[in-house]
Amino acid sequence: MTKPEQLLKLHKKYHTLSRCVLKKTAIQPVFGDGNPNADIVFIGEAPGKKEDETGKPFVGAAGKFLSEMLVTIGMKREDIYITNIVKYRPPENRDPTPLEKEQCASWLHAELALIKPKLIIFLGRHSMNHFFPELKISDMHGKIIKAILPNIPTTHFLPLYHPAAALYNGGMRETLIKDFKKIPKIIKTI
Ligand code: URA
Repeated sequence: MTKPEQLLKLHKKYHTLSRCVLKKTAIQPVFGDGNPNADIVFIGEAPGKKEDETGKPFVGAAGKFLSEMLVTIGMKREDIYITNIVKYRPPENRDPTPLEKEQCASWLHAELALIKPKLIIFLGRHSMNHFFPELKISDMHGKIIKAILPNIPTTHFLPLYHPAAALYNGGMRETLIKDFKKIPKIIKTI
């Protein structure tokens, strides 16, 4: 079986087995998407309306902004893999609860075990705090974290502000664009 086939099988299995309560209200699951051989995996929070409608992650305004930033560092969506902590849209785009995050955790960890990226990029605090609960995104954005975590194949992590939060906040937007530009250099040093 090829890696894309393995990944699709994994997503179907976890969706079938998932006991996440959000499954009842979401239109469909939003599987991770992109290159299964990518060096970089981006992890967001949870699908929004557009993602729920299409079944693809980061296809709304935040996703468009993310794609534009990728272009500025000479990359395309097809070069990376992108997924979320939670695979079903929370109603009215509210924050996912700790239980909902916990119910999707083994799914995310299985994706990471298959892809084995060199670098994991956290988009926002929910994503970062899943792996590093004690850290603050305002302190850590743009700073590389080197750590060995149980059952995670990656040792390098980069927290960034979430593109949806930065989209309409001038200062945060500038910071995110600046932090994003560090990615090529970081990947070369790993
Ligand atoms: N925000 C997220 O965190 N994930 C998506 O897929 C879309 C918006």
